[in-house]
Amino acid sequence: MATTRRPMMAANWKMNKTVVEAEQYMAALLPRVAGAEGVDVAVYAPFTSLPAVARMAEDSEVIPGAQNFYHEDSGAFTGEISAPMLLDLGIGSVVVGHSERREIFEESDDLVARKTGRALEAGLIPVVCVGETKEERDSGKMWGKVSGQVRAVVEGLGDVSAESLVFAYEPIWAIGTGDTATPDDAQDASDKIRNLLKELKGEDFASGVRILYGGSVKPENVGEIMSKPDVDGGLVGGASLKADSFIALVEEAQNHAS
Ligand code: PEP
Repeated sequence: MATTRRPMMAANWKMNKTVVEAEQYMAALLPRVAGAEGVDVAVYAPFTSLPAVARMAEDSEVIPGAQNFYHEDSGAFTGEISAPMLLDLGIGSVVVGHSERREIFEESDDLVARKTGRALEAGLIPVVCVGETKEERDSGKMWGKVSGQVRAVVEGLGDVSAESLVFAYEPIWAIGTGDTATPDDAQDASDKIRNLLKELKGEDFASGVRILYGGSVKPENVGEIMSKPDVDGGLVGGASLKADSFIALVEEAQNHAS
């Protein structure tokens, strides 16, 4: 399958950084990635830092992103943030269904599907996270879990362009543990996801959707992971927290841009 997909390198700061720390990071990042040809660079900041990150990214190619949102636009949803609120700040993308949201905050496949649909309607690029626990992998249930998560999102989708949707395969046992999946594991899961997308939405759609890998990605291992044909980039937690380390990841991703 010919690969014309644009690589993506995404920093997920999780619940880290004050506004001042976010500003310092962006001040270090922006000049260094200004020439990152052919790669989408995205920074998923906590809500409190989003105005600063979005403002600083305004004249750059860096995509400011949120780590979560709620699929209703307004109303009695205390503590939630909606798509129009994110658009108001100039946010371009949102992480949906991160395993920490699924596991700690009990987000269901159905909720993740609703959020994905709303993000797409609003013009926010959803990065939909899917992945299995160690127990599920060890008991041969990896694909049952991951395929169910992908189906829940894709079966309800209307006519959307492949470029507007991103998946991130993130095995839960590899997140924040230092225990990276092998490049072959990442390829195997991405290939399976792409084949399922083909079955559900056709060849053109499947070949255009980007699939990132996430789980202890760092500058030392990203090259080998991204050399796999169905892996289009990384969603990175720990190694994205220092600007220098994230810059190194973006530089490596550039080697995989066409
Ligand atoms: C993540 O935040 O999605 C992630 C993969 O974290 P880490 O890179 O720290 O494993």
